[in-house]
Amino acid sequence: MMKLLDAHCHLQDPRILSKTPNLIKSAQDSGVVHFVVNGVSEQDWHLVKNLAQNHPSIIPSFGLHPWYVADRSPNWFKTLKEYLDSTPSAAVGEIGVDKGSHGKNIDFSEQVGVLQQQLELAKDLNKPASIHCVRAFGDLLELMKSVGPFPAGVILHSYLGSAEMVPEFSKLGAYFSFSGFLMSLKANKAKKMLKMVPSDRILLETDAPDALPTSNIDSLFFVEGDTSLPKELHDQITSSSTSTSLSNSSQVVTDASMLSKETLNHPANIHSVLDYVASMLEITKEELADLSYQNAVRLFSYEGSKVLQK
Ligand SMILES: [Zn+2]
Repeated sequence: MMKLLDAHCHLQDPRILSKTPNLIKSAQDSGVVHFVVNGVSEQDWHLVKNLAQNHPSIIPSFGLHPWYVADRSPNWFKTLKEYLDSTPSAAVGEIGVDKGSHGKNIDFSEQVGVLQQQLELAKDLNKPASIHCVRAFGDLLELMKSVGPFPAGVILHSYLGSAEMVPEFSKLGAYFSFSGFLMSLKANKAKKMLKMVPSDRILLETDAPDALPTSNIDSLFFVEGDTSLPKELHDQITSSSTSTSLSNSSQVVTDASMLSKETLNHPANIHSVLDYVASMLEITKEELADLSYQNAVRLFSYEGSKVLQK
């Protein structure tokens, strides 16, 4: 069976936390070996740490996400360092900058300051950092040039930046991670950008419970009890005991772009991302699975990691 590593997700998210052990189990059954679970604020770092203690497959990651910058306590950075010190298996993230609809209300210079501190910390600790960037790639590149390069790697998660910027980020040590959000780009634009990404810098992720791929319904996994699903899909999931994958589903809803934006993403849907990215790159999914897995293993094989390179 092919092996995959979900380079960025949020299995501690309160929307799915009670179901996380089942989600991990079914994703593992489909070949996902590790899940990099990213904390986003002081409020959820303990949840990430607990999950990682209970599940050998979880690589914990701690960071302050730009959306939560305004809510940080005066001690946030000290607390973050304590989490990283006491959790040698952890990486840094989710951190970043955001000028999109969520981020534009949060003071941008504060976002940059908080990101800079965390990038410097990741560099000092020799750990990879997972970066969220929405409509601020120019600012991010400038900051990364001033703090970097990053020999331990940085992950541009759910990358939707331009093809032209790929080489500049690569030079600084960036990896490019793709999720279901890639399907929101026009196919020719996605293809052009993907083909610029060096083959040793490609990663796959789900960003679950967000970023449900807009694939055919029959190829997707859904989260049991997700009340945003149409009733007939919801009933099918709750009645099946072994798998949350759907077969012979509703004739009415055929692909996930027709579902509510609130529909939860399942970590086993990394297979849909794999299929899509492989088709854009015109390589087989086996080749891409192997490539992205090797890249992830190299990146997450820092000292103390649960992923050890063979
Ligand atoms: Zn995320």
